[in-house]
Amino acid sequence: METMAITVKINPYSAVNARVLRAAQALGVDANYQRLLTTCWREVKVALPILDDRGELRVFEGYRVHHNGVRGPYKGGIRYHPEVDLDEVKALASLMTWKCAVVNIPFGGAKGGVTVDPKTLSERELQTLTRRFTHSLKHVIGPYHDIPAPDMGTSPKIMGWIMDAYGLLHGYSPAVVTGKPVNIGGIPERNDATGLGVAMITRGILTEHGEELTGKTVAVQGFGNVGSFSALHLSRLGAKVIAVSDVSGILVREGGLDVEALAAHVGKGGSLRDSGLGDFDSAGGKLFDLKADVLIPAALGHVIHEGNMRRIKARYIVEGANGPLTPEADAYLQSQGVIVVPDILANSGGVVGSYFEWAQNIQVQPWKGAETKLELDRFMAAALRSVTVTAKKHGLSYRDAAFTVGVERVYQAALARGH
Ligand code: NAD
Repeated sequence: METMAITVKINPYSAVNARVLRAAQALGVDANYQRLLTTCWREVKVALPILDDRGELRVFEGYRVHHNGVRGPYKGGIRYHPEVDLDEVKALASLMTWKCAVVNIPFGGAKGGVTVDPKTLSERELQTLTRRFTHSLKHVIGPYHDIPAPDMGTSPKIMGWIMDAYGLLHGYSPAVVTGKPVNIGGIPERNDATGLGVAMITRGILTEHGEELTGKTVAVQGFGNVGSFSALHLSRLGAKVIAVSDVSGILVREGGLDVEALAAHVGKGGSLRDSGLGDFDSAGGKLFDLKADVLIPAALGHVIHEGNMRRIKARYIVEGANGPLTPEADAYLQSQGVIVVPDILANSGGVVGSYFEWAQNIQVQPWKGAETKLELDRFMAAALRSVTVTAKKHGLSYRDAAFTVGVERVYQAALARGH
């Protein structure tokens, strides 16, 4: 039976800052720099009036936050979701700062969002809203200043509209967004980079603990961009994906799902329920009760909390989503010996893919696909190595070690700039 859902009220920005401060204090960063590292440099809130299809005026709220730019232009996704608010955007912008530093690419941290359920808008309304948002941010974003990308509820198509709206004001600028359609400067490898990175990190962390990925059972929450490609690449690397869930429910097959067939089915507009590839149950929370070796939450933030953390049986949790564990759940699961690989390491493949796209746009020179995959592997392996070495050296959890690596790199860049 499903445990009753509880309301988890946590300020996500304070939760991230608590992590940053712990790392900064352990590194001996002085109080003024601690303030610098826990302060967003720019917070923009805009009103977005659009005429809907019935000719009525509707006003949405949009945000763009720059957290820290000492290591390079601000980088971060744009989310369209009804629960977007400023604190969430600030938390996600801060996570981007640490993520880009952990994976060692020359970007700072940003995030943006519009408080809207995109599924309730027609394509024309969505495009009008996106162009209005871009116009409102015309002096905030830019190829060498701030480069958005897709996140929850946004897509390559929406990035194409942003590129076009920005270009009308500033001239041809493909490098102003990443995750664009491939025929206007996107790269095919960006689409699955986050999921491929999750799979690479999962394999790497198992190796680190003397285990093999082959034959390991995996359960994945979310079958959108991150969840579906994580499941696909993990199954290609030899893991047995026994369950995936999405907002509609959960699909289970103990012998292992045919993820290729499922991804193809969902890609054509099919659902988990009508796939015929496993047993479907609309109680998606049952995912947390499964006895899988690896659990990959790849949907929303704070989905594993005090109300359900005791049900988790997985030995490894690899965070595909941003912030899927509350601090309480994180502490509890680690105390139970569960190995938790934090978001700022585990899902950093997406921003590395974005970096490759941006670099190719700036160079006006495409790379070969195989070259991009090898480079992604190189960046992910180096990030994993930095985090595991730091964890061992200082006796830290992987999350604390990842924050330590990120905070140290950003702090050193701030010093080098004379801040
Ligand atoms: P998406 O919109 O493509 O997919 C989200 C998935 O989550 C969908 O399958 C949806 O049905 C499912 N979902 C929603 N509510 C759910 C619920 N209550 N239970 C189970 N499933 C639910 O989004 P995405 O791009 O895959 O992003 C997922 C997460 O990963 C977000 O936290 C995002 O910030 C993070 N992330 C995304 C990227 C990227 O490159 N897309 C990179 C890094 C981090």
